[in-house]
Amino acid sequence: MKRLVLLGGGHAHVHVLDALANTPLDDVEVTLITPYRRQIYSGMLPGWIAGHYQLDQCAIDLTRLSDRAGCRFVQTRAVGLDLNGCSVLCEDGTLASFDWLSIDVGPVTAHQSIDGASSHALQVRPIEEFIGGINHLLPLLQDNPTSPIAIVGAGAAGVELAFALRHRFSATPIALIGSDALPLDGLPPLLRRRTLKLLRRKQIEWIGERRAQRVTGNGVELNDGTTVSAGHVLQVTGAAAQSWPAAAGLATDERGFIQVNACLQSPSHPHVFAAGDIAAYHDPRPKSGVFAVRAGPPLAENLRAAMAGKPLAPWTPQRRALYLISTGDHHAMAAWGPFGWWGNWVWRWKDRIDRHFMARFGA
Ligand SMILES: Cc1cc2nc3c(=O)[nH]c(=O)nc-3n(C[C@H](O)[C@H](O)[C@H](O)COP(=O)(O)OP(=O)(O)OC[C@H]3O[C@@H](n4cnc5c(N)ncnc54)[C@H](O)[C@@H]3O)c2cc1C
Repeated sequence: MKRLVLLGGGHAHVHVLDALANTPLDDVEVTLITPYRRQIYSGMLPGWIAGHYQLDQCAIDLTRLSDRAGCRFVQTRAVGLDLNGCSVLCEDGTLASFDWLSIDVGPVTAHQSIDGASSHALQVRPIEEFIGGINHLLPLLQDNPTSPIAIVGAGAAGVELAFALRHRFSATPIALIGSDALPLDGLPPLLRRRTLKLLRRKQIEWIGERRAQRVTGNGVELNDGTTVSAGHVLQVTGAAAQSWPAAAGLATDERGFIQVNACLQSPSHPHVFAAGDIAAYHDPRPKSGVFAVRAGPPLAENLRAAMAGKPLAPWTPQRRALYLISTGDHHAMAAWGPFGWWGNWVWRWKDRIDRHFMARFGA
């Protein structure tokens, strides 16, 4: 019996599990190690905050999916790796031995040296803890809707959260802080300007070209010496890597993300695979759910081939991805390469894609 350990119930691994459920592997014992029983689909999370979805609609039941895949489900998280001894050290003190290892543990919030953020800001990752924080925040805002919110980080997630909170709380002062002149770095300029207009129209204060330096109980201190007063601070400052893969000696990039070749295999340890945001692809792409989802099928195929001793097949992530950004009120924006669109029809399109994705995994 060979042992395959899947670390993390991320967007690529849910596909691997689904593929195993459809075509089981002979003579392989598969184990999923992940800290939560469900996987939240982040694309729908702002819609849950806006009140468009129940949380169950945004969650994949990992225990049920593991059952279908004939996979052992172990609820804990990896905190270390022994690559010579082929075992994962888990937070609960146990060791999980493997012959083959696949890692899809996602990112952690990039702190970017913001003092006080870990104690005074609600961080978007881990998403389950963020959900706990939002469940605590929503009743506070219902009781005191004029208590200001500051969101640090103006990528797609920060922008979507600002619009979702505005949809839910029309009277709450909301400030969105980003380091560029416009929000949504990397998306088409047309869409970025449109976002700025929409922020203004919805009375979300845009604080651009500034960086948060310190978060206190009273708000956010910026690098220009000003302070944004806030009763609640959300930190959505991009993706960083967990430290244990690099500490174990896996080849990583300079930020600690696991290097993989075109077959999603570690160049330093060929019995280790990685996909999703934790992976540094041979042909780099932005950290985004789209690429984590797209990596699922080639990862499933290559794990299957590796265990059968067959040749692996290279995969190149698509050059362009479709970004769909909800703006709270059944309205959304879409970006594809240099092109951008917006409207209620874009929201319906996004809603259909998201529900279709979830239906595949029984949600
Ligand atoms: C609010 C928000 C909205 C977003 N919207 C979009 C969007 O619309 N489109 C888009 O493309 N991207 C979006 N993103 C980005 C997207 O969430 C990530 O790119 C995507 O989740 C990456 O998928 P992943 O599989 O790499 O990791 P994740 O989805 O983070 O999954 C990682 C899994 O590993 C588990 N895990 C974590 N640590 C460990 C450990 N040490 N040991 C074992 N298991 C572990 C986690 O519990 C989780 O199950 C959004 C992000 C946020 C925060």
